[in-house]
Amino acid sequence: MQAFPCPFCGLRNESEFHFAAEAGKVRPDTTVAISDEQWASYLYTQNNVKGAVREIWMHTPCAELFILERDSVTMDVIGSAALRGAS
Ligand SMILES: [Zn+2]
Repeated sequence: MQAFPCPFCGLRNESEFHFAAEAGKVRPDTTVAISDEQWASYLYTQNNVKGAVREIWMHTPCAELFILERDSVTMDVIGSAALRGAS
């Protein structure tokens, strides 16, 4: 079992976390017409990078979203930060 660091609660068991999204993914401009394929790609396609990744996770007990940086190969956690103020 792996432990993830919630920036609000500290180190917790991975079973308390839920993946939300890739960090930095840009939502398509919906003020203009976009195709179903473009919208589906935004919703369901992920880069699946090998190595260091930045992702948005939720710690379900405190219901806070935050940035988790981890290595997708080794599963090592690089760091975490609150979503607000993260760049
Ligand atoms: Zn938390």
